[in-house]
Amino acid sequence: MATGHIVVAGAGGNTGSHLLPHLARMPGVARITLVDPDVYESANLAVQNIEGADVGERKVAAQAARLRRIRPDLDVTAIQERIENVPRGLLRCDLFVSCLDSKAGRQDLNQLAWRMGTRWIDCGVLGSQNLVRVNAYAPSQESPCLECSWGPGEYAVLEQEYVCGAESGAFPSMASSALGALAASLTAIETAKILRGDADASVVSRQVVLDAEHHVVQVTAERRNPNCRFDHGVWAVEPWISPPEATTLAQAVSALGSVRVEGHRFVSGLVCPGCGRGENGLRLNRPLARCAACNRRMASSGFGARECLDSTLAGEYRGLTLAQVGLRAGDIVSSGQRHRLLLEAA
Ligand SMILES: [Zn+2]
Ligand SMILES: [Zn+2]
Repeated sequence: MATGHIVVAGAGGNTGSHLLPHLARMPGVARITLVDPDVYESANLAVQNIEGADVGERKVAAQAARLRRIRPDLDVTAIQERIENVPRGLLRCDLFVSCLDSKAGRQDLNQLAWRMGTRWIDCGVLGSQNLVRVNAYAPSQESPCLECSWGPGEYAVLEQEYVCGAESGAFPSMASSALGALAASLTAIETAKILRGDADASVVSRQVVLDAEHHVVQVTAERRNPNCRFDHGVWAVEPWISPPEATTLAQAVSALGSVRVEGHRFVSGLVCPGCGRGENGLRLNRPLARCAACNRRMASSGFGARECLDSTLAGEYRGLTLAQVGLRAGDIVSSGQRHRLLLEAA
């Protein structure tokens, strides 16, 4: 019986919509979780495996419906959010597949995969040169990660994305539908190998580039870079049953010593970029609340941002619940070297 659970980040880039039907037809796959924040636009019709009726639909919803039509017994979960904002514990799976265009999103997925100790596949296309690329990674201290091959140029692009792409994230790519489908097929074949445990025959710790312009395939072994900026830590995560709606910050700090959610900071002092309205309150800076007056996304005023909450927490915040500051069931809360998965009572 199939048991494999795959999390696919990016349902609508150059490859995602072409890849998903292949995954649904794979005998080893029992469950697919789709993560994508966007809605299909008419421009997507030219390059993605979608139909006119999908325009205006949420990408994850359109793809989930399609997967269920292909295989009614498939367990499909659709999460309309940027992958970096989804509580890590909701994404426990056997394999991550990235069809993301943005470097920031791929960097986050790399970190997520390492923390959870879960293999991940990354694919991409370069339309101007008819190139497709597939990489796979098996998290450990010794094995190469996405960032091992990054130099200053990659980090500069990343900075650029953080500055300009806060909401949209990705750069448009002029790849054809056919090239996206080629990358998707190659990715699906590697997915099947990894799921059946045949990592040696797969692209794990390697990169395959298929140059469809000149009919050349190039395979490169990736190496662990000792100077990689990412720490390569794989976490042992323990469950912590404590509903976020019923646990105060004072209780959490006293039970754990300190509370940190990797990839996010706690901010106090929010300001609306639209109308300038200010709001006090402590929040995890994962999509911040919207302005009550004009509905724009609030921004941190820049004062009072902190990595973790501990015993120095101001008295006015101690009675707030974890849910009130933006934590959700499925979040992984770290204190020192320990990592706990925040769970509701069963
Ligand atoms: Zn690395
Ligand atoms: Zn406002």
